[in-house]
Amino acid sequence: MRQFAGACRFVYNKALALQKARREVGEKHLGYASLCKHLTEWRSSAETPWLKEAHSQIVQQALKDLERAYRNFFEKRAAFPKFKKRGQYDRFRFPQGITLDNSNGRIKLPKLGWMRYRKSRDVLGEVRNVTVSLSHCKWFVSIQTERTVEHAVAQGAAVGIDVGVARFVTLSNGRPLEAINSFRKHEARLRRYQRRTSRKVKFSNNWKKAQAKVKNLHYRIANIRKDFLHKASAAISKNHALVVVEDLKVRNMTASAAGTSEAPGVNVRAKSGLNKAILDQGWSEFRRQLEYKMAWKGGKLIAVPPQYTSQICPRCGHTSKDNRKTQAKFECVGCGFEEHADLVGAINILERGYRLLARGESVQSDHSVKQEPTEVTQAAFA
Ligand SMILES: [Zn+2]
Repeated sequence: MRQFAGACRFVYNKALALQKARREVGEKHLGYASLCKHLTEWRSSAETPWLKEAHSQIVQQALKDLERAYRNFFEKRAAFPKFKKRGQYDRFRFPQGITLDNSNGRIKLPKLGWMRYRKSRDVLGEVRNVTVSLSHCKWFVSIQTERTVEHAVAQGAAVGIDVGVARFVTLSNGRPLEAINSFRKHEARLRRYQRRTSRKVKFSNNWKKAQAKVKNLHYRIANIRKDFLHKASAAISKNHALVVVEDLKVRNMTASAAGTSEAPGVNVRAKSGLNKAILDQGWSEFRRQLEYKMAWKGGKLIAVPPQYTSQICPRCGHTSKDNRKTQAKFECVGCGFEEHADLVGAINILERGYRLLARGESVQSDHSVKQEPTEVTQAAFA
């Protein structure tokens, strides 16, 4: 499987080099069909005899991946395609010739034969293609399927969501969702491992062992976060027809707290803590998940401007900085209304969402919803 992935990476890079060279001398960009002709040459070349060993369709799929990378670049969705190193492109895809034995959790792939996988869920629909990939020393199989689904009708009420550092999200109906802060929990251990690594002789066996520990911990943290985000976004999208969030420019919020030499950042310490908490908790990923999951369920996600949502009194409308005495407490200086500050924020966000809808303004958020007609089921090989 490593050889297959290596062959695909080689073909991807070789085709990219060819396209780049042509671009430099002003020649036309080659289409997929022309690249396939080059591929046939490369496969019969005496310099790379091992390239023939790989299944012809998987190396063609690598060319398709490159085509997609170029298309994304031409349509201004992505940066210019880059050469892939080991670790960046450890995968290959079969577009056909797959036999799936769903009930026994095994799959037959061309040239590889029958293999067992850890069956995490039933595969529904007709198999379109199968991708085998390597991640952190484990091989995964992703099965893309196609099936007809009923048009979903959104269930449930509307809800506003406030994002916080102390609490990951607060719902306007008052139901809390606790933060996990997986990074912080493992932070001490991570620092310890990193310190150990730095004391070892670089590239020695002990250094490699220590390095592997650091990597493993990072992987674990990422998995905990991923699991949490998916569960939270699934729960919210299942129970609500409308979700209103703040249109936070997460990138601005997490941008360098230290500032520049001309304009040094104020309150650097507190801000870097905030940055970390936001990055740690993956707010932009959470929003991305909410967006597509709401679309799947027939619901809607809208983003409203975030100004003053933490300072407006939901009872009398008085807006003042003084309403927010501490990070956690809201107390209106106009009417005396008291509530948890995050909850007030969530209520105001929902309110703003209603107003936006009532005015009939464009509620399309800046991230357009990409709805894939297909579904991907991923499982690790047993
Ligand atoms: Zn008030």
